[in-house]
Amino acid sequence: MATTATERHLLIGGEWVETGSWIEVRSPYDGALVGRVPSAGAAETRRATDAAERAMHDPLPAHERAAVLDRVAAALAERHDEVAQMICEEAGKPMKAARVEAQRAVSTFTMAAVEARKLAGDLVPMDASPAGVGKLALTLRVPIGVVAAISPFNFPLNLVAHKIAPALAAGCAVVLKPASQTPLSALLLAELETEAGLPAGWLNVVCGPASEIGDVLVEDERVRMISFTGSAPVGWSLRERAPRKKVSLELGNATPVIVAADADLGDAASRLAANAFSFAGQSCISVQRIYVERDVFDHFLGHFLPLVEDLKVGDPAEEDTDVGPLIAPSERERVLSWIDEARGLGAEILAGGGLEGDLLRPTVIADPPPDAKVVSEEVFGPVCTITPYDTLDEAIALANGTRYGLQAGIFIADVKDALNAARALDFGGVTVNEAPTFRADQMPYGGVKESGNTREGPAYAIREMTDERVVVLQL
Ligand code: NAP
Repeated sequence: MATTATERHLLIGGEWVETGSWIEVRSPYDGALVGRVPSAGAAETRRATDAAERAMHDPLPAHERAAVLDRVAAALAERHDEVAQMICEEAGKPMKAARVEAQRAVSTFTMAAVEARKLAGDLVPMDASPAGVGKLALTLRVPIGVVAAISPFNFPLNLVAHKIAPALAAGCAVVLKPASQTPLSALLLAELETEAGLPAGWLNVVCGPASEIGDVLVEDERVRMISFTGSAPVGWSLRERAPRKKVSLELGNATPVIVAADADLGDAASRLAANAFSFAGQSCISVQRIYVERDVFDHFLGHFLPLVEDLKVGDPAEEDTDVGPLIAPSERERVLSWIDEARGLGAEILAGGGLEGDLLRPTVIADPPPDAKVVSEEVFGPVCTITPYDTLDEAIALANGTRYGLQAGIFIADVKDALNAARALDFGGVTVNEAPTFRADQMPYGGVKESGNTREGPAYAIREMTDERVVVLQL
């Protein structure tokens, strides 16, 4: 994978800042140096928070916020190749998937601009109770205050977009801490924001030791909201440590999907083969547990396994690569050990199960026991399990048998069964005749149980990032 190393600086109060120490960003594919960014600590994080707080003293009207968001969307579209390449290089995300992410970020900014233009409160029907007669009341949506955004490595552009675009639409200034493995896309986005005319202080980006930066953001009373996307243990511990702030959590999943006997099996197989292994399974809604009605189990495998074997494993920079590296060699070793555990528990490996060069092959594991890690934990690697079931109730119970609840899917022709299943599946989202990896950026997106406590998607995130203030007038 050929790369040219990029150097980017932190953004604090409108200035591009160096600190004298550096974080090296290396390709997860071949270890080549992709770039470097300054490493910030507590002092820079406090300065970033000062700048954000100061910016909010001079609010920007909605039309200006929306215009900046629109200009960022246009710049992302115009610089698509550069943006996709940055994602590919630092995350090791195959170009196919990196292009989709870059394109989706355009939608995220566009939708946030739309929402900024229509952000408004309600009229309260005051004469509906005797106490309100003779009064008029309305609500205002007031920006919550400085938002601290903490983002993961796996969507280094669009999950940053899902925090900063709604925050700006809501009128909130942001201190962003991107993942240390993938800070370059976030800083490229920050450059586009400043070029789009965002005034100083509205977006500040600090990279560096997570716990040090995290501690400052948790402790600083001026940070009114922490918007976190990442792993469940880190997310829930942040929430416990910041009980007086709003802490929105978008966390992991062990994504299940049910394939009923009356489904279009060929269509289901092709959607699931693509979505269990895209970006080597490193999506919070990567297809992980497939439950297939026993009568069509072998028939489904006949469609599914050849598609899995056809996936191209290799250099993420090549446009036809489907499956690239995991983010770090330690992650590859972890996933390999989970595959070995399932094997040791008697499960059959139907595809993959080992390495191709340094890369994990797409792996399909038949009928592992429910307590195998590949079933009970979030794999976050190119692995799915496939298990037969006899009744739809049994399949729903298996799908729900997890502490996670982000998205689930079902392939089925019968509409009544589909809607009953959608009600019974205990997840934030249910897809019918589509892989549960599907997300359009305007959708409400988020989980129940340990998967989180909020919804993203610009319209929904803006609700979280604004307070409702009631104004009562005596007539
Ligand atoms: P992670 O290790 O939890 O890291 C996420 C972010 O949190 C990074 O910026 C990380 O910084 C930071 N962080 C780590 N410890 C912290 C602390 N003590 N205080 C403050 N910040 C801290 O997660 P990841 O490995 O990057 O991402 C994978 C996880 O994210 C998976 O579980 C996946 O399911 C989940 N995810 C969820 C969604 C969703 O929308 N629900 C979307 C994508 C990913 P450093 O990088 O510097 O450690």
